[in-house]
Amino acid sequence: MSIDRADLIDLSYLLAAILFIVGLKGLTRPRTAVRGNQLGALAMLIAVVATMLHEDIVSLAGMIFGIAIGSAIGVALALRIAMTAMPQLVALFNGLGGAASVLVAGGYLAGISSVTDASVLTATAASGLIGSITLSGSLVAFGKLQELKFVKDVSFTGQQFINLGVTVVLLSLGYLLVTQPASAQLWFWLMSLIALGLGVLLVISIGGADMPVVIALLNSYSGLAASATGFVLNNNLLIIAGALVGASGLILTRIMCDAMNRSLWAVLFGTMQGGNSSLSDDEAYATVRSTSADEVAMMLEIAQNVLIVPGYGMAVAQAQHAVRDLTNLLLARDVAVEFGIHPVAGRMPGHMNVLLAEADIAYERLKEMDDVNSTMDQIDVAIVLGANDVVNPLARTDPDSPIAGMPIIDVDKARTVIVIKRSLSAGFAGIANPLFGADNALMLFGDGKAAVVEISNALQEG
Ligand code: NDP
Repeated sequence: MSIDRADLIDLSYLLAAILFIVGLKGLTRPRTAVRGNQLGALAMLIAVVATMLHEDIVSLAGMIFGIAIGSAIGVALALRIAMTAMPQLVALFNGLGGAASVLVAGGYLAGISSVTDASVLTATAASGLIGSITLSGSLVAFGKLQELKFVKDVSFTGQQFINLGVTVVLLSLGYLLVTQPASAQLWFWLMSLIALGLGVLLVISIGGADMPVVIALLNSYSGLAASATGFVLNNNLLIIAGALVGASGLILTRIMCDAMNRSLWAVLFGTMQGGNSSLSDDEAYATVRSTSADEVAMMLEIAQNVLIVPGYGMAVAQAQHAVRDLTNLLLARDVAVEFGIHPVAGRMPGHMNVLLAEADIAYERLKEMDDVNSTMDQIDVAIVLGANDVVNPLARTDPDSPIAGMPIIDVDKARTVIVIKRSLSAGFAGIANPLFGADNALMLFGDGKAAVVEISNALQEG
């Protein structure tokens, strides 16, 4: 039995598909995540090499040229981008994935004199539609994560109906594309252009703290667009890899919706709108008291149970190693130390877990929100390190707040709360936090890393 080129490509695709699935499974546990990531990268390498063997590749030189340019941009971005800007980068990557699907499907229509197969035309329509929504939605998400001033939360009455109307127009254009193959290119590009508008409409109104859900959803869309493109090109691996991204992104969206107590349908149809909190900074911060590292060290010396709640500020300060040192000092004094991890703390799913794992903080010390909330009354000192929205009690008390209904870590119910941050500035949701002025709260103003190092020094000297 001899193996020809087509068999070799199919076998390579099969191997790559298996490696993608095993790699994805590895990503479900912190201990196996690095290996999972490596397997995924290996699968992608096999997929690219196998694709280059295809006989219907028009120009191998063109493909290598494209890979070289893409790789150079990718390496430059990866080397230069700060870890805290990673979510924006992921948003851009999602958008580029969507753009690639639109261009490949459009290029296919342009390169083939007439496509009459309805299933291929349907797949082309799906690529254009989902890819365009992903592109423009991701660019808006990028702007929001980058906190660009001109990307404001825009919502207006009747927005759902406009979204619905545009969706109907898009589906009609998709129908025309499939039923009038002679004008397929016209309908395709018209549909893709209007879908760009829908992408903006779906994401622009989402405000406050709800971005994690959108990022996960756009990631899913980029996979679905790629999968549809796989049908256009009749490429099994693209179908499988795209479907894996689409399905895992949708599962993540579901998890994020649960974590934030939001409806998946509202996210899907762009009807989720940020509210407006009426609490002013003056009201919230009338009774703020500040403290010093020495005073915090004294409190920790007599504490039995300490909870550390990290947030985005820990990532900005890169304080995770200093936190590990403080944790070890406390453990050596028989103080129980746990970490309360909110599912949307930071700017990307698992952000805090990754940082704490990088500093070799034992995974068993990381507790989920529900677990720490049920024992909060036993916590002597809760240290909030660069977190804000995820500990904001307004989520429980103000139905008009953009974070209303979002479960939070209830540090305000601990005996004493120390909040470490540089100022009284708001978090991502842009609202005041009454925790800072609470009777049992003390602010330790300063950079997260410097503050934690000072506390450790004071503990050692004390
Ligand atoms: P927040 O964004 O609410 O607050 C972070 C706080 O960190 C700020 O108030 C800031 O205060 C402080 N900070 C910044 N730099 C430093 C520093 N060097 N040292 C000490 N503190 C610092 O963060 P949370 O983690 O509480 O909440 C995450 C928010 O991001 C939520 O609203 C979530 O929905 C959203 N989000 C999450 C995503 C995810 O997937 N996890 C994705 C997109 C958005 P100051 O300037 O005073 O120091």
